[in-house]
Amino acid sequence: MIQTNLKQLVEYAKAYCMLPKADEYYTFNRLLLLLNLDDCGADEPIPSVEGMTGPDAVLEPILAYAVEKGIIDEGQTEAFSSRLMDTVSLRPSQVQAVFEEKKASLGLKAATDWFHDYCEKTDYVKRSAIEKNLRWDAKGEKADLVITVNLSKPEVDNKKSAAMLHKKPSGYPSCVICRQNEGFTGHGTVRDTLRTIDVTLDGTPFFWQFSPYAYYYQHAIIINTEHTPMIVNTTALRRLMDFVDQYPHYFIGSNAALPRIGGSLLVHDHYQGGLEQMPMHRADYRTVLSAPDAKVKVGILEWYNSVVRFESDDREAILATAARMIEAWKDYNNAALGILSESAGEKHNSCSPVVRRTETGYIIDLILRNNRTDETYPDGIFHAHPEYHNIKKESIGLIEAMGLYILPARLNRQLFKEAAAYLCGKPYDGDALAEDMQVHREMIELLLSRHGNSLTPEEAEAAVRSRINEVCDAILKNTAVFDENTGSEVFRAFVVSCL
Ligand SMILES: [Zn+2]
Repeated sequence: MIQTNLKQLVEYAKAYCMLPKADEYYTFNRLLLLLNLDDCGADEPIPSVEGMTGPDAVLEPILAYAVEKGIIDEGQTEAFSSRLMDTVSLRPSQVQAVFEEKKASLGLKAATDWFHDYCEKTDYVKRSAIEKNLRWDAKGEKADLVITVNLSKPEVDNKKSAAMLHKKPSGYPSCVICRQNEGFTGHGTVRDTLRTIDVTLDGTPFFWQFSPYAYYYQHAIIINTEHTPMIVNTTALRRLMDFVDQYPHYFIGSNAALPRIGGSLLVHDHYQGGLEQMPMHRADYRTVLSAPDAKVKVGILEWYNSVVRFESDDREAILATAARMIEAWKDYNNAALGILSESAGEKHNSCSPVVRRTETGYIIDLILRNNRTDETYPDGIFHAHPEYHNIKKESIGLIEAMGLYILPARLNRQLFKEAAAYLCGKPYDGDALAEDMQVHREMIELLLSRHGNSLTPEEAEAAVRSRINEVCDAILKNTAVFDENTGSEVFRAFVVSCL
């Protein structure tokens, strides 16, 4: 009976969401209200919640009941489950208080681990959806890349995000990461269970939260309390360093603050952090260019795109050196390499700084980016080239520039199911391909010419993966502003000029 399912949800919340015993009846009654019920039902045994890692199994019968009784439409189950979970979860102030208490008694790492686990248990971080994502390691030319096919987030159109930048904030909240989203459910937003933590960076109030889509482990988003545009400058760098001073186990980085080379949300100042080590973090120096006795070690990274690494135990010295390069890069030009800092009144150079704490000091990586387009490359010269757009057309943001790819969900069906079928003997006719498969025509024909059409399903999957791996490797090279072969001398000269 449905009331028993609601009682089980209360038990779940007591076990995993810190629902106080004193709120038990109150919470059960709020759940009754959501289901249009006014009695407690028969006294049945309540199924155990032991060992649960998320509320899916508890929510399932409740959602089915709500649909069956016409309380919600089938398309509203996500929103309704979020409302149910919010009803049994701690308020934002309580979450902050528990976080502070854990930090004081058990230490910072335990507190962030608790907060992450809490967000999973309330189903804000969609653990069960994330577990369905495809993820594998790809042996690349320079590193082991990580490729994920994210099945839980919609694709973003570059041109749309560029248009957003120029759009005046309107409506409430001004954008999807504004703090006013905590608990907001208007316009199809599902943020009932969003919980955030305060943090002050360089004297400015910020807050941080976990990403429900979680591209990697403990994917955190650190957000300016004010709805103000992204900017990468000395202040931003100081804020990133302030963050790792307070959260030394996390890395933090900023997307380049220009369309086509950054994140999808340029209208609101924010950073991304997390607990996972990115492939780029494991890269070593290609060349060290600072003097051996310099306070800051500076060099070019052995990496696909153009990255300068700084290392020092002197906070002010590393900040000053990296900031100098951020400013110098903004106006850097090299026509021979196609790097123009400005055209038609539009700025093109920006960078993604990524900051980490070490045992004794700091590491800053600056990924140099340029977002110029031309006739040959209307989506970006230092962007995935057109022959790779079937795999990835969206911006190569901070996370991907570091070697962790987030590929669109459509590839799961289009490549691993439909394209793979041709490698296993399904008759192939390029002209007869469905419209959304036409973009993959070249790739399918390449795979057929390489492997023929009598592969086993496992071999076909491996062949598709292997081609995706090659493309991801090639795309990262496309994003290099200084070509490794033709631009290495000028890259060195640029770095040296900033020391
Ligand atoms: Zn905003």
